[in-house]
Amino acid sequence: MLANECAWSDSLSRVKAVIIGSGIAGLASAIRLQAIGVSVTVLEANSYPGGKLTSIEQGGYRWDAGPSLFTMPELVLELFRAAGKEPAGRFGYKRKEIGCHYFYPDGAFLRAYTDSEQLAAETERVLDVPAERVRRYLAHSERIYNLVGRTFLEKPLNRWDTWANLSVVRALLHVGQLDLGATLHETNLRRLGEPRLVQYFDRMATYNGSSPYRAPGILAIIPHLEHNVGTFIPEGGMISITRSLYALAKELGVSFEFTAPVTRISVEHARASGVVARDEYIPSDLVVCNMDIVPAYRRLMPDQAAPTRILSQERSSSAVIFYWGIRKCIEKVELHNIFFAHDYPAEFRAIFEQGSIARDPTIYVNATVKDIPSDAPEGCENWFVMVNAPPNTGQNWDDIIARLRGDVLRKLEHHLGEPIEPYIEVEHVLEPRSIEQRTSSYQGSLYGTSSNSKWSAFLRHPNAAPKIQNLYFCGGSVHPGGGIPLCLNSAKIATDCIRRDYGL
Ligand SMILES: Cc1cc2nc3c(=O)[nH]c(=O)nc-3n(C[C@H](O)[C@H](O)[C@H](O)COP(=O)(O)OP(=O)(O)OC[C@H]3O[C@@H](n4cnc5c(N)ncnc54)[C@H](O)[C@@H]3O)c2cc1C
Repeated sequence: MLANECAWSDSLSRVKAVIIGSGIAGLASAIRLQAIGVSVTVLEANSYPGGKLTSIEQGGYRWDAGPSLFTMPELVLELFRAAGKEPAGRFGYKRKEIGCHYFYPDGAFLRAYTDSEQLAAETERVLDVPAERVRRYLAHSERIYNLVGRTFLEKPLNRWDTWANLSVVRALLHVGQLDLGATLHETNLRRLGEPRLVQYFDRMATYNGSSPYRAPGILAIIPHLEHNVGTFIPEGGMISITRSLYALAKELGVSFEFTAPVTRISVEHARASGVVARDEYIPSDLVVCNMDIVPAYRRLMPDQAAPTRILSQERSSSAVIFYWGIRKCIEKVELHNIFFAHDYPAEFRAIFEQGSIARDPTIYVNATVKDIPSDAPEGCENWFVMVNAPPNTGQNWDDIIARLRGDVLRKLEHHLGEPIEPYIEVEHVLEPRSIEQRTSSYQGSLYGTSSNSKWSAFLRHPNAAPKIQNLYFCGGSVHPGGGIPLCLNSAKIATDCIRRDYGL
């Protein structure tokens, strides 16, 4: 046989996959599948890869547009290794010594060291809480992460073999330690006592778009990742995650089509047989959907019976983000900064019960220029200023955002003791409507569904469609949830299902 005939017959015999969307989970799925011999085509509605993990540039400023907190970098490295490539020279990052600067309403200022010993010493110094209490809390966080983390975050929950193993038995024996019957806030109050320290650890419920006053105490696994494991910043900013994974996928031979929104998943006799994009039917052995699960069922498969209970789960929070190019340097601000709300319960009531934003919300400021000087012109700073917001249910966002901008500037200028507004020379705004419009995330939620109930983990859509063969799901709206690490896990679980189903 001639060489090109060999290649032709090889490509005919390879399993073909179409991936809908090139968010972080779509990219990770493409890499994993192509690496095990599947022939992958990614169809992306936008003209660029990465979904929420993208960046904005203007006037010499660069901002990471979406995620800014980077934990568990080994999950990114794992993709290079799965592809048989060395990450060195393709993707680099460094560990941060201080995770975040915290500004409290009473004037207290806390440096949240990522090292747990240093954090314990700092909270003793600033908040007057015995260091031992923080040490014990972080040890508890590590213990419960080791007990349940792998089962809940790295395995499909709808398969019997996930539950029939020793680690689950061990977790069940220690179920009392998981604080399943209490909220995260109640757990933190009981274990930590001091209100400002409680607020510090309560905030971690927002890492997956939830309220600490409703999410279960088991979310106390998150501090283990931030403190015992650490937080990191990629060289070149968060966008380098997208860029390096896109480059890796291309190098492996994944084919990408941009400005190619998928309008239909073709299902015949309960089997996915391909998709329709730009009015063209593209047959495929299997389909991996990185689109949000709600529009995926409603718009791409309107004839199929949708899992209505799953689709009606409460969405995670969304956000309003101001990207500001500021014509001066502000020393008090670090890479990550939090300016806490005075009335924290009111902030979450506003988001999850009233569909609005409180007048004194917690403000997050990210300034990558502190670590990456080329992200702003000399003597200037690139601020990403984010406030958690309710999902989009048709609120008057123009009014909300105009009012919020004033509230945010007043609060920041008060804490920093210097004017900011006159120095803003470039401004962009991202908000629930535009997040929804740019990534098809239902209601503009950042993390799919919220974790505001102890059953939330069981009410996320699984990574293999239960009723449609050859159809798989990855990304923040399905199991195990949103945020970069979990999206990467979703791609791994979906790929594991495909390997098993296709004997790859
Ligand atoms: C402002 C903001 C801040 C955040 N902060 C953090 C953080 O600090 N840390 C963290 O870990 N996470 C953070 N997140 C969450 C994180 O960004 C997401 O969980 C993650 O990026 C979602 O990835 P995904 O794979 O689910 O897909 P998405 O990023 O949602 O991308 C989906 C892709 O699919 C494409 N698509 C959709 N429908 C179709 C279709 N029909 N046809 C073709 N293509 C389609 C979209 O265009 C998009 O490119 C943040 C998110 C935002 C917006």
